[in-house]
Amino acid sequence: MSGILVYALHSDEGEFNNNSLGAISEAARLAGEIGGEAAALVVGDVDDAAAAGLGKYGAAKVYRAKSVPEGLAQPIVDAMAKVITENDLSYALFGGGLLGFEIGAGLTARLGAGVTMEVTAVKADGGKLVAERPVLQDSAVVDVGYVSEPGVIIGRLNAFDVKESGSGDAEVVDIDVELSEFSTKATMVTRGESGDEGGVDIADADILVGSGRGFGGEENLSVARDLATALGGEVAATRAIVDAGWIPYATQIGQTGKTVAPKLYFAAGISGAIQHKVGMQNSEYIVAVNKDQNAPIFEYCDFGVVGDLHKILPKLTEAIKAKKGA
Ligand SMILES: Cc1cc2nc3c(=O)[nH]c(=O)nc-3n(C[C@H](O)[C@H](O)[C@H](O)COP(=O)(O)OP(=O)(O)OC[C@H]3O[C@@H](n4cnc5c(N)ncnc54)[C@H](O)[C@@H]3O)c2cc1C
Repeated sequence: MSGILVYALHSDEGEFNNNSLGAISEAARLAGEIGGEAAALVVGDVDDAAAAGLGKYGAAKVYRAKSVPEGLAQPIVDAMAKVITENDLSYALFGGGLLGFEIGAGLTARLGAGVTMEVTAVKADGGKLVAERPVLQDSAVVDVGYVSEPGVIIGRLNAFDVKESGSGDAEVVDIDVELSEFSTKATMVTRGESGDEGGVDIADADILVGSGRGFGGEENLSVARDLATALGGEVAATRAIVDAGWIPYATQIGQTGKTVAPKLYFAAGISGAIQHKVGMQNSEYIVAVNKDQNAPIFEYCDFGVVGDLHKILPKLTEAIKAKKGA
């Protein structure tokens, strides 16, 4: 059966993360094109309604492994390998993220499968899936097909849009998984979401104020935070200022950080290096403020202002507050 299995990660509060929901939505679309079904795997404590609710995003079936702990890669590899093998599924699709990469790599080894990582799009061709993967610092894209099944496809974080296909509740199937001996050697001590300073996951924010070295120092980032608050968004960062210790890694956008696609990405004091661009280029609207008119960010922003962010941002924040009557 040309089925596609997606692992759906949930928080301790029972909420599925957007990245997983995007992967399920994409699996449902692709399954429709190759004549199969999209299925999801959930582990741990997920109630009937939450599991069945994944049908809203197009999962026809949800396999639930209650005894498998959430958040550790190897037990989830055991569960996914069992579901894929016993149901003769053709593909495993991941939304990316550190855990997705870890599980995907483990599953690839376990199944002796082919794998493509950092995938930004997937298409159907002749009843098979073909993964599109940027290469050479995103200057070219290659198509990767699979000569045997199952195949493993690991997307970039948030590469797949969340879409409610409205197909109703999914069938929930409880499964028993016998964990491999090595899968019990690590145990979860504490689990928490890695967000920005406020504990918010920037990958879910509609508005981001991207901040770069142009701020000149950690103490000046309050200017970015004020603007983000006025706009109702969050602060994101370049690697340069994460490496400098100005702001936590969880806020880093780019090749070695998160991939985001907010409605508005406001880039301030950011040169726009390719490694940063790959993490935010899918934003709906990009606005840039930079004092250097030759900065690369101006080549791909929708609206650019050449000027000093220390003068522009506070005025903009005040104007937004005044407009909102705050
Ligand atoms: C393997 C690898 C992986 C990488 N991964 C990432 C990644 O994931 N994310 C990432 O961001 N980078 C990454 N980088 C680093 C990347 O190449 C750049 O060095 C980095 O993005 C630059 O950050 P920046 O724009 O903050 O700093 P800079 O390049 O130093 O740019 C600062 C900008 O601020 C402007 N400026 C200065 N003062 C002002 C002012 N007062 N007002 C307005 N503008 C001002 C300057 O004109 C300049 O354009 C990676 C690099 C490598 C080699």
